[in-house]
Amino acid sequence: MKEAINTVPAQIIGLHRPTVAHVNLAAIRHNVEAELKRTKPGTEMFAVVKANGYGHGLIEAGQACLEAGATGLCVAILDEALTLRAAGITVPILVLGITQPQWAGLAAEQEISLTVGDLDWLTTALPLLEEAQAAPLKIHLGLDTGMGRIGFQEPAALKTAVDFLKDHEDAFIFEGIFTHFATADEQDTTYFNTQCQRWQAFMAVLPEKPRYVHVSNTATSLWHDACNGNMIRFGVGIYGLNPSGGSITAPYSLEPALSLTTQFAFVKHLAAGKSVSYGATYTAKEDEWVGTLPIGYADGYPRRMQGFHVLVDGQTCEIIGRVCMDQLMVRLPHKYPVDTRVTLIGQDGEQTITMQDVADYAGTIHYEIATTLGMRVPRVYENR
Ligand SMILES: *Cc1c(COP(=O)(O)O)cnc(C)c1O
Repeated sequence: MKEAINTVPAQIIGLHRPTVAHVNLAAIRHNVEAELKRTKPGTEMFAVVKANGYGHGLIEAGQACLEAGATGLCVAILDEALTLRAAGITVPILVLGITQPQWAGLAAEQEISLTVGDLDWLTTALPLLEEAQAAPLKIHLGLDTGMGRIGFQEPAALKTAVDFLKDHEDAFIFEGIFTHFATADEQDTTYFNTQCQRWQAFMAVLPEKPRYVHVSNTATSLWHDACNGNMIRFGVGIYGLNPSGGSITAPYSLEPALSLTTQFAFVKHLAAGKSVSYGATYTAKEDEWVGTLPIGYADGYPRRMQGFHVLVDGQTCEIIGRVCMDQLMVRLPHKYPVDTRVTLIGQDGEQTITMQDVADYAGTIHYEIATTLGMRVPRVYENR
């Protein structure tokens, strides 16, 4: 197997600090099963595990989904697919992004399906595949019906590519066709319907449908019936996160799979008038107790979380002063032992902080919080 580069990035996992992401694999299995139960009979699920399984762990999340009934996996880049293959996963894997044609032979050799969005890609890859004498490469044609990201923009261009594939069956297998919706997570369906119409116009030029026809990410599968195919690309829902951020309710309970906890690194009494962290933006009005947590923005906990809270002993405690790269400070109601459990995402007693809560406060979406959780935070798997 040809390698793109021959260096392996150093993997730093903070096993010697108490900051941990707990990943409940039973929640992942529940979400996958609940979704498959309500999709049309015969609909397959390819679980989307790109970006390290949305931060939950590429291989572990993928395996949990397959155990729960998913029949394939989707990733964003070829390396993610190669990592799954190296882990012994043999189900169909589709790379959703555009892979450089120079890796066509490698993908074919590993039976990894690639997304193609124009004829140029196919004409560039053809001689490389012929030279590599690999098995035919499985292709999914991506259609740009309004996402404006990748894919064929006109039915005529699609037709040309389909004919090209037909003429070169020794090199390519036309395995799938798909599109991606830009507004499936919104109440207003106007733009969605426009994309649907464009999809129908593309489908009209297809002489025959390939094995996989797919249009649905999580939001589309949850909230739209139109132009459904025979496979869904179920992503964020796997992890128990609502793609609309909660503005549209899911038809079943999505169980969040990830919680983030730590323990205090340091607990101290802070005298009135003393300040905390860079910029000295927080000054104690009265004598108080302050805990320092060994987690910061380099771990993916956003710097903007100053003023938000964590859970200690079932109570909310405010984050005071600026969040540092590796540490942050919280105000405590009284002294606590350093080995007290502190919850940044998850439940403690009656209180819960969701990833959505963190995202809302940070002014982003939970996708970003999940996928930027740092590589220093070990993922601990529960309910294997
Ligand atoms: C990431 C992605 C998905 C999954 O989206 P979710 O909103 O997480 O379900 C599906 N299809 C494509 C093309 C994607 O890039």
